[in-house]
Amino acid sequence: MTFRATILTLYPEMFPGPLGVSLAGRALRDGRWACETVQIRDFATDRHRTVDDTPAGGGVGMVLRADIIAAAVDAVADERPVIAMTPRGAPLTQDRVRALAAGPGVTVLCGRFEGFDQRLFEARAIEEVSIGDYVLSGGEMGALVLLDACIRLLPGVMGAASSGDEESFESGLLEYPHYTRPVTWEGRTIPEVLRSGDHARIAAWRQAMAETDTRLRRPDLWERHEGARVKPPSGAR
Ligand code: SAM
Repeated sequence: MTFRATILTLYPEMFPGPLGVSLAGRALRDGRWACETVQIRDFATDRHRTVDDTPAGGGVGMVLRADIIAAAVDAVADERPVIAMTPRGAPLTQDRVRALAAGPGVTVLCGRFEGFDQRLFEARAIEEVSIGDYVLSGGEMGALVLLDACIRLLPGVMGAASSGDEESFESGLLEYPHYTRPVTWEGRTIPEVLRSGDHARIAAWRQAMAETDTRLRRPDLWERHEGARVKPPSGAR
């Protein structure tokens, strides 16, 4: 099954962009995913192809019009989820990425200017997603991030050697650190356990490192991980 990505944007020339090279590029050429862009301006109704207007209540910038964007969304509507890139959205997670990658594809709506008229999200089933707590100039980079994360999980894209199962976030933890040759570099030597050939010890070391690093670097993830592990006894208040 081909994973179909449709991107609604004012800048279709940005796609597939970096997704046309390396792993994602090969997967695109192999037909594992398909990339289609829709120019939002094609749904404007005036001869200037206007898609935005001034913010109600005043203030700087311009707002993408709900009627124009809804017409673009309706034109491509099918069984795939529609995701709008917005800093106000739910943070993108590996769980969401995995669920999307298991489906038929996704339609991604890229904002510009000050973003979308809020009524769009009241009137259409559109999921708002953020790729982090910072502000981009447009949703296109976010769409590329979302698609890259999905594409590498599609069957056959990464190959059997790296299933991705052990990677950061898959277990709710950050991944353990990696090392490769040379064994000693600038006076620093690869931890002895990784050179021992003892697979049980290596697995235990990696698990311990994943837990320590998550606790120190991402207390928020660690808290969630521990919360999920330590379930209260049934009947406990
Ligand atoms: N006025 C908006 C705010 O403060 O929340 C920012 C709009 S931003 C300049 C323009 C567009 O970039 C947004 O509509 C959205 O599509 C995209 N964007 C910016 N930051 C993003 C983020 N962290 N995640 C996803 N999309 C983002």
